[in-house]
Amino acid sequence: MSRFRLQPAPAQEAALAEHCAHARYVWNLAVEQHAHWKPGRKSALGFAEQCRQLTEARAASPWLAAGSAVVQQQALKDFAQAMANFFGGTHRRPTWRKRGRSEGFRIVAVKTGDVRRLSRNTGEVKIPKVGWVRFRWSRAVPDGAKSYRVTRDRAGRWHVAFAAVPAPIPAPGAGEAVGVDRGVAVSAALSTGQLLNVRGLRDTEQARLRRLLRKLARAKRGSNRRAKVKTAIARLKAREADRRKDWVEKTSTDLARRFDVITVEDLKIRAMTRTARGTIEAPGRNVRQKAGLNRGILTAGWGRLVQRLEHKAPGRVQKVNPRHTSQTCNACKHVARESRESQALFLCVACGHRDNADVNAAKNMRDTAAGHAVTARGGLPLGGPVNREPQPDLPSAA
Ligand SMILES: [Zn+2]
Repeated sequence: MSRFRLQPAPAQEAALAEHCAHARYVWNLAVEQHAHWKPGRKSALGFAEQCRQLTEARAASPWLAAGSAVVQQQALKDFAQAMANFFGGTHRRPTWRKRGRSEGFRIVAVKTGDVRRLSRNTGEVKIPKVGWVRFRWSRAVPDGAKSYRVTRDRAGRWHVAFAAVPAPIPAPGAGEAVGVDRGVAVSAALSTGQLLNVRGLRDTEQARLRRLLRKLARAKRGSNRRAKVKTAIARLKAREADRRKDWVEKTSTDLARRFDVITVEDLKIRAMTRTARGTIEAPGRNVRQKAGLNRGILTAGWGRLVQRLEHKAPGRVQKVNPRHTSQTCNACKHVARESRESQALFLCVACGHRDNADVNAAKNMRDTAAGHAVTARGGLPLGGPVNREPQPDLPSAA
């Protein structure tokens, strides 16, 4: 993903904000329609049906009709992709978009001439109903970008991101497989023993964030001071998000280059989240603990990493059932919950094998994918690779 700082003129900014408002309106309409759907009803609204309703809504509302049909239709497509991701278990259920937060829209069918370079540091992109908008040419614009997304972050900055599904990276061909375990203490552990961490905020930045949050709590609602503090907080959070995205890109490229087969656990984040919360009748056990764990998984951007791996190493990513991977000793295959000494340490109660707990799990996943199914003593074998669901042909959520 390559993101560029957009530099719209004031009049253009108003037009961009209008596009955002239309996209948000359509997205929220889709959220609302899906909220009414319950299992057992005839059908969840499909994309085609929603498009038909959009046509009706445009006919009924001059405000909507005045906007770009591409923007509005893409908002629906993005929503369909978000639902597919939700059912695929890698993302949470799409929710309402609020004004001033997560603002953006997507333009598709971009032609080669729609992006051009003006000078060393400046480029411009043609946006429907807005015209040519300048952006900072801070790196190479990817060739053959078919779509782009314009966003406005909470700090009020505009960006344009060109989506070009990255070209597959050729496999090294050495026959090497790697298991990658998502961690909570670390972002990812490899079966090679390597521990990878997302570079988050530095200590000084975290201290600053805490100070700002305290300031925010004291600032009067609607005051200028409060708005200023909010902007500063948004900047820090945006920086953190940038680093996370950067990490995902670098890590996925690195793994695709170094290994022929990459094994990840088939994490049904959605299912886990639900289990933790439980129901009203049967509240989940260890709700607190699990809620913390789930936050860890989500913030580590696991779903995004797997998605990028599948782009860069198509057909080389295997998802395996994570069952027992964290409780199985990779040396003697003994399965015992007690072997998991702590979040960080695995100490086998049968053979005394010691390893980083996440690395031990990553090794089990690698072995599972290689066909040496780890069998629990007197228990069930680890599940084999889970078939990948075909994804609908939609532009990936950038
Ligand atoms: Zn052992």
